Amino acid sequence: MNYENSKWLVVFDTDRIKNFVFATNTLKEIRGASALLVEQDKIRKEELKKQGELIYSAGGGGTLLVDSKQKAQEVVAQIERDFRFATITGSITAIAVPPDKRPNSRWFGRHMDMAGQLLQKKKSSKGELSLLPVEPYMRLCDSCGTRPAERRFDKDQSGDLLCSSCYKKRDMGIKIRKATSEKGFVWKFKEYIRKNNLSSDWLDAIPPEDLNKLGELDGSGYIGFITADGNHMGKMLQLFEKKEDYSNFSNKLANLMQEIVFDVLARNTRPMEKAGEKILPFEIVLIGGDDLMMFTSVKLAIRLAIEIVERFEKESHAILKETGLLENDFFERLKKGWGGGKLPITPDEPFLKYKKLSMAAGVVLCHSNFPVPALVEIGEALQKSAKKKCAEAEVNYSEGALDFQVITGSAVDLETARAAVPYNRPYSLSEFKNLIGFIEKFHQKDIHFPKTQMQTIYDACHFPNVSRATLATLHTLGRLKRPARKLLKEFFISFSAPDNKYLLWPWTYIAKGSGDQNKTAFVDLVDLFDFVSNKKR
Ligand SMILES: [Zn+2]
Repeated sequence: MNYENSKWLVVFDTDRIKNFVFATNTLKEIRGASALLVEQDKIRKEELKKQGELIYSAGGGGTLLVDSKQKAQEVVAQIERDFRFATITGSITAIAVPPDKRPNSRWFGRHMDMAGQLLQKKKSSKGELSLLPVEPYMRLCDSCGTRPAERRFDKDQSGDLLCSSCYKKRDMGIKIRKATSEKGFVWKFKEYIRKNNLSSDWLDAIPPEDLNKLGELDGSGYIGFITADGNHMGKMLQLFEKKEDYSNFSNKLANLMQEIVFDVLARNTRPMEKAGEKILPFEIVLIGGDDLMMFTSVKLAIRLAIEIVERFEKESHAILKETGLLENDFFERLKKGWGGGKLPITPDEPFLKYKKLSMAAGVVLCHSNFPVPALVEIGEALQKSAKKKCAEAEVNYSEGALDFQVITGSAVDLETARAAVPYNRPYSLSEFKNLIGFIEKFHQKDIHFPKTQMQTIYDACHFPNVSRATLATLHTLGRLKRPARKLLKEFFISFSAPDNKYLLWPWTYIAKGSGDQNKTAFVDLVDLFDFVSNKKR
């Protein structure tokens, strides 16, 4: 029996959303692009409700059921056309699955799985958006540099000639900063503050004018960039028997992510005073269903990332429970209802075992004028690395993971930034909290840990001969006063291999051959030292 076999299933998703948002280096346009997406989400949702039975629509994607082939074709065309019209350079892919092509299964998640595969197929056949032909006499856009300039932007002092896409983005970005527009994440964040009666300090705060201004808020000239994403989400969406459960799960997940981000920001940060203005020390760029990208003041980034990963894990339990995934007979029902073929999960699935979801996050700490596209790429590479950590046998999704990178030199990619550094990243959430806890202690006044000693060990760690760092460590231990010596020993014991607690300091791991790499958490501690203060909330 087909699932509601007279209906057409329409599914859509935004293409290369990050390319659209991060097309330029300018925060104004990034903010504007982000707000255009939020605005389009809202408009589309209202529109689709009129067209059929809307199951889910948020974060640039969604799904609905419609009655006829004609309707399905109309809706697909409308979704793609409206978005292109509103964003100029953005695009959405939509597809419709006819009733007779839908899987022979009453399990709704199976229909979504099939639709998802068809959507990916159409997306990959679209290829890269071809650039408009640029004639030699044409001038290129001052912001993106890839499209022909069309109009002079007259609402700021830049005098820039912009393409129509950058014009729209910047125009929107400026409106949001001046709070003349109830759009984007700034407005959503303030709505959250109002609804929950949190500090009214936030309500008249405005976003930083650009990334340099964000870097200046704490005087460091540095900014943080956080990217985070839930694990196994594609698989999760196949697990719903009824469309109502699917809808419930997707909506709850999207709300959860937003609420966690807003709440964590509201409770762990505050507006910063600068030249008589109250400035938000962050800029949320994307919150999709379960993924996040945002800029922050550099000293906030690590703590915020930890808190978000931790809260997601904790609060995901309720969603799993409310949507029936933790019921005792769930796996049996899936087996029966799926209707032959390979099941998307096994009975040992981590979320069934741990009764929660997990998240992977990457944090980049860099100078505020670091090129944004490279920054985003590094963030995504870190997130991938954290995902790998989650998949490692000893973690196996029992908790989330984080990776970070401080960019100081001229490195423009993660590999270059890390070459020849014996780091111990990525960390599982609990290991990372342990590391940050130690950094706080090293900062304590009564410990009085001399930074020169820290640097001596750090430098020695970078020599290929491991005994050099060990000698430096022993030498330092001999010279330190008691509280500092005790703390350093505790740190090394905590981050040594379990079978070698006293022999290999400062090493967590020693390379076993060529191509392998030495690891020490001490390098991570020193790299993060200036970006994590000991001030507790
Ligand atoms: Zn442009």
